[in-house]
Amino acid sequence: MVVGDIATGTELLVIGAGPGGYACAIRAAKKDVDVTLVDKDKVGGTCLNRGCIPAKSLIHAAKYDSDLDHWDEIGIHTDEADIDFESIQEWKDGVVERLTSGVEGLLEKYGVNYIEGEATFESSNTARIEEEHNAEKIEFEKAVIATGSQPIEIPGLEFHQEGIVSSKEVLELDEVPDEIVVVGGGYIGMEAVTKYCKFGATVKVVEARDRVLKQFDQEIVDSIQETSECYNDEIYENHKAKEIDNSGNKIAVIAEHKSEEVRIEGDVVLVAAGRTAKPIVDNLGLENTEVELGEHFVKHDKQMQTTDENIFVIGDAAGQPMLAHKAYREGKVVGDIAAGEPAAFDNQYIPKVIYTDPEVGVVGMTEQEATKEHEKLKIGRFEMSASGRALTTGHEKGFVKVVADKNGKLLGAQIVAPRASDMIAEATLALEMQGYLSDIANTIHAHPTFPEALGEACEDALDESIHQ
Ligand code: FAD
Repeated sequence: MVVGDIATGTELLVIGAGPGGYACAIRAAKKDVDVTLVDKDKVGGTCLNRGCIPAKSLIHAAKYDSDLDHWDEIGIHTDEADIDFESIQEWKDGVVERLTSGVEGLLEKYGVNYIEGEATFESSNTARIEEEHNAEKIEFEKAVIATGSQPIEIPGLEFHQEGIVSSKEVLELDEVPDEIVVVGGGYIGMEAVTKYCKFGATVKVVEARDRVLKQFDQEIVDSIQETSECYNDEIYENHKAKEIDNSGNKIAVIAEHKSEEVRIEGDVVLVAAGRTAKPIVDNLGLENTEVELGEHFVKHDKQMQTTDENIFVIGDAAGQPMLAHKAYREGKVVGDIAAGEPAAFDNQYIPKVIYTDPEVGVVGMTEQEATKEHEKLKIGRFEMSASGRALTTGHEKGFVKVVADKNGKLLGAQIVAPRASDMIAEATLALEMQGYLSDIANTIHAHPTFPEALGEACEDALDESIHQ
């Protein structure tokens, strides 16, 4: 200990107050565990402060344009929208503030000892926390690594360069740029396309692979590309971004395409080339513990326990898929374990959503994946243009597709629809419950609603469809 150090003890030390860490801390504290939660930045982590929540707030605002078109179509005529981006940003910050202060309130309510500081392990039962004016040594019985991930840098397009922004700064721009270049056509990149294109920017996507959203089925990508020029117009596939040129009025991404150099210019360049947990975990002092690393994540079992029996790992630091809802679930599992209850991360299905317009929601196997494991499949499909609810809202683009084995056991669902993010929950529940097409088809869905479309797709797979 050095002068100024304070020594304390805790049953459970949680490092990182993102969705994984704060959920874990609250779950354990509610079960009478003495919990200390530490974060070097803000409560809420990436998701609440610079990810899910601010991104979806801006996308919500940006979708005004499709609503205006719709109002015009049905006879409500408005003048052209006057976009006050500063106010939109203030509103978005307010949403973030409400949620993060809500979490702070919950931590206080359940007696979690929250410390703002940076934690590193000194051993398998002690950690050092550097605070602004102090250092603290904490003894713990169990600790949880919930330290999240950070954007991957592309050599030649490092974030410190003028004009280059990461997924965090792109949510904080003062104004809508005239032209924005998005390097990386994954879900974070395509969500940025959704908001800035709809706010009126020209958006250019530079993708090294042969198509954007490569993790998703081709028919999903085709469907969203059909609905909006935002996903269609300036997509540079098979273009590998190498460096930038800052010398002119605009900032240019220099990309390699078929051995030739291509210049793609914009006012801002967003680099969204994926996320990694490694650099953060590498600085945690894990060499002082028994924790072992895999290539990109901390090794762990189904209880989220690492190779050090005192230390657990959750959220992005535990590996793919790096999603808040996976982090929440893992946090709750470890919270239960810390309280002495049996628990495991035994979920089979993790839904994925992209907040494009229309939205995309997928869970389980696609037809292509299922074909590799099953001889015969039952496939059902329902077009959103045949949904009564979709027509009443003027948002009728997309489809629902279900994939089941020859006995009708559900294997997966893919949804492109205005409310796909909500609709995918029912398919996820059915899959977790080992459900069959008939379970969904025979469940009464309220009418008229978007989820009816999932029931209709299941009926189609059973050859019992009424509405198509
Ligand atoms: P994080 O939320 O990253 O939190 C980790 C915390 O640990 C941070 O607050 C950090 O300050 C702290 N920390 C790190 N090291 C230390 C240390 N040594 N000492 C103290 N504190 C430390 N996911 C979804 O499910 N849905 C979405 O719609 C979605 N949208 C996204 C949009 C964007 C633009 C981005 C970037 C991400 C999005 N994600 C989304 C992913 C989601 O944000 C993450 O999966 C989620 O935040 C991971 O939670 P976590 O608890 O593992 O880590």
